[in-house]
Amino acid sequence: MDHAGRLRRLLSGLGENRLDSLLVTHLPNVRYLCGFTGSAAALLVSDRGCILFTDGRYRTQAREELADAKVRNVRIVIARKSPLLGAAEWLAAPRSGSAAVFVGIEPESITAGMRDRLASVLKGKTRLRSAPPLVERARMVKDADEILLIRRAVELGASLFRIARETIRPGVREVEVAAAMEYEARRGGAEGMSFSTILASGKRSAVIHGRASEARVPRRGFVVCDFGVILAGYCSDRTRTVHVGQPPWEARYLYEAVLEAQEAAIAAVRPGATAAAVDGAARRVLRRRKLARYFTHSTGHGLGLEIHEAPRLAAGQSMKLEPGMVITIEPGAYVPGKWGVRIEDVVVVTSSGCEVLAPADKEKELVVI
Ligand code: ZN
Ligand code: ZN
Repeated sequence: MDHAGRLRRLLSGLGENRLDSLLVTHLPNVRYLCGFTGSAAALLVSDRGCILFTDGRYRTQAREELADAKVRNVRIVIARKSPLLGAAEWLAAPRSGSAAVFVGIEPESITAGMRDRLASVLKGKTRLRSAPPLVERARMVKDADEILLIRRAVELGASLFRIARETIRPGVREVEVAAAMEYEARRGGAEGMSFSTILASGKRSAVIHGRASEARVPRRGFVVCDFGVILAGYCSDRTRTVHVGQPPWEARYLYEAVLEAQEAAIAAVRPGATAAAVDGAARRVLRRRKLARYFTHSTGHGLGLEIHEAPRLAAGQSMKLEPGMVITIEPGAYVPGKWGVRIEDVVVVTSSGCEVLAPADKEKELVVI
């Protein structure tokens, strides 16, 4: 991974945002920039050098991970209190020069309390300024190393569907199916799941985020399985919907409509297309099938070090897709109290369109258990 290049590009963009330095506190951003994966960190990025503040627990790990990331211009400071206060004290130390210093902070990851504490330590010429999401913007476009890791994560994630198919039976509890899938994920090397496994059976399939519960799979009905792993730091995300027992024609109709919507959205993914256009492609299919009112969430999201990243594929999103972006395409239709269907894949935007990761077209025909 080109951590040094990421830091260099971030630094060169600070000036145009009228910042002298950026205090990175969102941990996935810290990891992205310098390779450090610990749970306590603040990374100060400035053209006078970069400093990683962490605490005593991470002394060895920080040294090793920064060496692996080959970021030679990043110093490590072990803070006595919190990494954030360590950074504040460092910034407050008297320095030469009389001009005001503008330090950017990441407003989405800093609480009001943290900001107050920072401000109380930083007096005089250091001013805090909410920075735009500079690191998040850089993270949207993945490099070849990242795409390789995401591909591996998606492949491991995809293999869990086989376990789901083997385990889903009338009478089995949803949590048992999830447990079997998660055990397999760990055996495959996953650090964990990228979110609580969603397993929503029968009427619960209409609940968009129906985490696996104690409910038992009924004799007949849909089961929505939405699952993802974290492998080497990168997330996967996939949804398959199966039907237990012979599906009535309306169930097939609903399923086929969602599948058609997903295929239309995938076909709309290309460089220069807006996020809204991809969302619109899915919605148009469901409108034609008189199901638009049951599609109540956005069509997809970016993913990478985090399960939900920019861009968001929804109405009104004018962001243009670029090669290297990695996004999910996951339309669904949910009839409250009755049933629901969602189908989700991860795609990489290429120079001419997109590539579906771990494609498995066969399992997208309605699987009947
Ligand atoms: Zn998902
Ligand atoms: Zn998703």
